[in-house]
Amino acid sequence: MTSEIIDYGVGSDYCKLCMEQQLFDQPSTYTCKHCQISMCNECFHQHTYSLLEEYNLIQNKFNDIALQIQSKQQLLNTFRNQCMKSVDQCFDELIQDIHSLRKECTDHINEQYNKTKVTNKENLATILTGPLTREPIQLSDAV
Ligand SMILES: [Zn+2]
Ligand SMILES: [Zn+2]
Repeated sequence: MTSEIIDYGVGSDYCKLCMEQQLFDQPSTYTCKHCQISMCNECFHQHTYSLLEEYNLIQNKFNDIALQIQSKQQLLNTFRNQCMKSVDQCFDELIQDIHSLRKECTDHINEQYNKTKVTNKENLATILTGPLTREPIQLSDAV
């Protein structure tokens, strides 16, 4: 068969798919809108079935991918929540420690202040009641 007789193009009078199998007597009754191929009734049904199978396969893959993305998103959410919780917990502990340290510092200052105050009071009392306490020396006394 010569290439002039085998017309694989659009609008062919014979089924292109049958012609590929060396069958040249099947008239084309349909043209697939998807592939733009002319084909006979039987090939058209097989072709449609194949396209549907392919479509279902792609849709299943699409669903699988969508599920995987959802699962990854859930994992991401869980990871984020754990990180936030960990940071919150860490800062809560640090804030608690800072408060404790602040109280320790102010307590220490007050403790030292009170000790020194008591000592000063005692020293002052000793001085005021001691033998060295007297009226200031007048200039006339010295002369
Ligand atoms: Zn055919
Ligand atoms: Zn097609």
